[in-house]
Amino acid sequence: MKKAKLKLGLLALCLALLMAGCAAPASAAPGPAASPARDTADMPGEESSFSVHFIDVGQADAALVECDGHFMLVDGGNRGDSDVIYTVLKKAGADKLDMVVASHAHEDHIGGLPGAFSYATAELTLCPVTDYDSDIFRTFKEYAEEKGGGLTVPEAGDMYDLGSAEVEILGLNAGEDTNNTSIVLMIRYGETSFLFTGDAEREAEQALLDSGAELKADVLKVGHHGSDTSTSYPFLREVMPEYAVISVGEGNSYEHPEEGPLSRLRDAGCKILRSDLNGDIIISSDGKKLSITTDKTATEEQLLTPGGKTQSIAKPAAAESPRPSPEETEQSQTQETMVWIPKSGSKYHSDPECSNMKDPSQVSLSQAESLGYTPCKKCW
Ligand SMILES: [Zn+2]
Ligand SMILES: [Zn+2]
Repeated sequence: MKKAKLKLGLLALCLALLMAGCAAPASAAPGPAASPARDTADMPGEESSFSVHFIDVGQADAALVECDGHFMLVDGGNRGDSDVIYTVLKKAGADKLDMVVASHAHEDHIGGLPGAFSYATAELTLCPVTDYDSDIFRTFKEYAEEKGGGLTVPEAGDMYDLGSAEVEILGLNAGEDTNNTSIVLMIRYGETSFLFTGDAEREAEQALLDSGAELKADVLKVGHHGSDTSTSYPFLREVMPEYAVISVGEGNSYEHPEEGPLSRLRDAGCKILRSDLNGDIIISSDGKKLSITTDKTATEEQLLTPGGKTQSIAKPAAAESPRPSPEETEQSQTQETMVWIPKSGSKYHSDPECSNMKDPSQVSLSQAESLGYTPCKKCW
């Protein structure tokens, strides 16, 4: 990861840098504008790899980005998704993350990040705020301080390297509402680009348009789980994505994704991918072309049907337990069952003598779960 950030105050400078390739030092003289602003980033070499894994975390957001063996996690799902995040990172061998991005302080984005930090360290943890009044935020912050270099509030224009891909912060803290604090970022790899908007709503979308940021992207992680408060026409006109990924829980009580954004995406000619219908979604890039892998397939009709309680689409084999809303989960864990966890290993135990644990420590059951531990079959 690049340590020195380029702070691009002026749009003109920004464009000049884009034309010169963004890795150029800020002092580089802008050359003649021989080619358009996009498509001039260095093309990745033969050995290079890039993928974005949109992790199916139900009504929440989480994506693991990999480029040339470098990793970045954008959001971590709900508290109950810690084990999912832990498993995905472990499977990818991602025990050292270049960057963790907490798009904003809501539980469905930061709740599972303690699970990430219980497996991996991160050089940098980005968040639009350093304080937020919730237990899960305080837990996340503690983990980020211990394993993720503390919380860093980026600025629009900041750039980071992720292997041969580059990450640009386009905006954050565009409004009072927590959703509108979302860090919006663009990842560019060769000629392909991925736009992440957290739960940014119309107000934040307008602020991005006003900023003059280059918003064109091949893949849009659709804002706020397909809520009608996001994906406005003016914003979509600038982004014009080929693929729109909606991270959403099957039968969620918010009835996301809503009719409005689905029809706007359809009108814009986007191919829609939905975690409630497609499960895990992996989009790989060779720098020019994208390839898509999903757990499950869905018909176009299903993909264009709004979500919610009334939807009846075949359940996956493993039925999901109902997820409490972020507001509910804050209060729902008042009874503290205590368990024992080992220094190394992935199970929690009721018996501190079980499995010859070395230096077991006692933590609450919810904490063990948020750390990604699963019950021991012998003693639990
Ligand atoms: Zn959300
Ligand atoms: Zn939110």
